[in-house]
Amino acid sequence: MIQLYIPLNFLGVIYREIKQGLTDLDKMFVLLEREREVADAPGAPPLAVSGAAVRFEAVGFAYERERPILHGVSFEIPAGKKVAVVGPSGSGKSTLARLLYRFYDVDSGRVLIDGQDIRTVTQSSLRGAIGIVPQDTVLFNDTVAYNIAYGRPGASQQEVEAAARAAHIHDFIAGTPKGYQTMVGERGLKLSGGEKQRVAIARTLLKNPPLLIFDEATSALDSSNERAIQAELEAVGRDKTVLVIAHRLSTIVDAHEILVIELGRIIERGNHTQLMAADGRYAQMWRLQQAGGEG
Ligand code: ATP
Repeated sequence: MIQLYIPLNFLGVIYREIKQGLTDLDKMFVLLEREREVADAPGAPPLAVSGAAVRFEAVGFAYERERPILHGVSFEIPAGKKVAVVGPSGSGKSTLARLLYRFYDVDSGRVLIDGQDIRTVTQSSLRGAIGIVPQDTVLFNDTVAYNIAYGRPGASQQEVEAAARAAHIHDFIAGTPKGYQTMVGERGLKLSGGEKQRVAIARTLLKNPPLLIFDEATSALDSSNERAIQAELEAVGRDKTVLVIAHRLSTIVDAHEILVIELGRIIERGNHTQLMAADGRYAQMWRLQQAGGEG
């Protein structure tokens, strides 16, 4: 995975790599106006969110014209429900999330939130409605407080602390000599994968968006940390619309729907019980993970 402590002056160089990281990049988009691949339609209104229901309609997409990545992908996430995407590496899971956040525009089909094609609304309103907890969290070379408040600029110290407590990172921060004023990033305190993910959770709690994207870490954490983070993610996602890119199937047994994606196509879909009964690819993946102790 990519190195995510970012000196801002290097952003131009590693912009494309970061973009892969699926992070909350509004600020960087502002810095890199020229690099934008999508634009607001003239006079675009803000997204009007009711329940943040998501709908992908026959979505086709290619990063490079000659190599299509998604082929006619359709699914819905009803308001307040969780849909999980699983499948082999490179099958297009993160691409779905990038399209929902409108890092790129679809080549065919549509992506709708509460009935509105996301190409017709302002990007700032779209991204304001979506929280991402990525595999690897971007930390700015700034204080812990700044990094958490980045979820909602202008948040008070009390609000930042409350979010940190809920994400179970407060005690760690309070235990550092400068507390919330501790500098993090490449010139400051280095945080572990789990600590960074907790900062991302705190950020998301503070932002409190109606729609969430969880990009589950593949390996970064030990299993007790993993379970704790999972419990925190569950809490953050309660009653929200959630798209989760999952690697460990045990975290998604409760999903409203699970999409098994291969080579950019949905090859199986249903809830856990239905997919186990179908005894297809998902059931096979489930058995493998059980046997491998969740590997
Ligand atoms: P993983 O589980 O490994 O994260 P994934 O299912 O999320 O994989 P994607 O990141 O969606 O896979 O990538 C799908 C395909 O698109 C891959 O073949 C990848 O190489 C390709 N791809 C991703 N980003 C780009 C890009 N910026 N330019 C060209 N190809 C890309």
